[in-house]
Amino acid sequence: MKYIEKLLLGAHMSIAGGLSESITRGESIGCTAIQIFTKSNRQWSSQELSPEEIKKFKERQKNSTVKIVIAHASYLINLGSPDPDIFRKSVIAATKELLVCEDLAIPYLVLHPGSYTTSSPEVAIQSIAHGIEKIFNHVPGKTMILLETMAGQGTTIGKTFAELAAIRNLIKDKNRVGICLDTCHVFAAGYDISTKKGYEKLWSEFDTMLGIEQLKAIHLNDSKKECGSHVDRHENIGEGLIGKEGFSFLMNDPALAAIPKILETPKSSLEDDKQNMGKLINMILSK
Ligand SMILES: [Zn+2]
Ligand SMILES: [Zn+2]
Repeated sequence: MKYIEKLLLGAHMSIAGGLSESITRGESIGCTAIQIFTKSNRQWSSQELSPEEIKKFKERQKNSTVKIVIAHASYLINLGSPDPDIFRKSVIAATKELLVCEDLAIPYLVLHPGSYTTSSPEVAIQSIAHGIEKIFNHVPGKTMILLETMAGQGTTIGKTFAELAAIRNLIKDKNRVGICLDTCHVFAAGYDISTKKGYEKLWSEFDTMLGIEQLKAIHLNDSKKECGSHVDRHENIGEGLIGKEGFSFLMNDPALAAIPKILETPKSSLEDDKQNMGKLINMILSK
């Protein structure tokens, strides 16, 4: 029972109507953790947050059941791009997002490492690390950037722990770089976490390549596509190819007890998140 009390579980929440509304939405379905976009995730531009909105958000969270809010950066950002204009725009956009996180006292900003497009993984890894250094130079502070594990679609960087480790190793201020592991992405990247053996292999490799202490958040998504397909299609918990057992290993793993766990499963309403959360909680209760 103690384990349940410590659980940081929730889903990605919309900020429609104002940032603090995300917390209200999360609370309404029993979230203890949520993830938000601090702005529209498909636009370069962003509006400045008013001091009132910042204050409102922080006060709203203070006495909330939502113990942790993490942010996810815009999908447009590509620090691995060989195009200088896209690289520059990406640095500016990510800098702004990190500043907003600092203002809101959000501890983690999840970032897709990037894509190499017409260059090579080696060049993109250098570029991503260089971009993150620039962002940190612009924004001194506490918010960490979490590099997300990727499915490996197209020229995406981050389908192997080695690539993420290579980026991190090039950054001076390593204390500000952690990892967000996405279950659908690692499955699509080739880790068969539907079996105990595959689940253990994942964490043993994670620990060897990155160190388990670098793990700061988990995205809980089942996968519509096969293990090793490199295709990123999220599915409801237990309805995809990872299946209930795979998530049961994760939900009952004491090493992951304190890690915020966020759903990004398909949804038409909050009820869908609530159902997926219920399935995950039952996996702990039934043990
Ligand atoms: Zn993501
Ligand atoms: Zn995904």
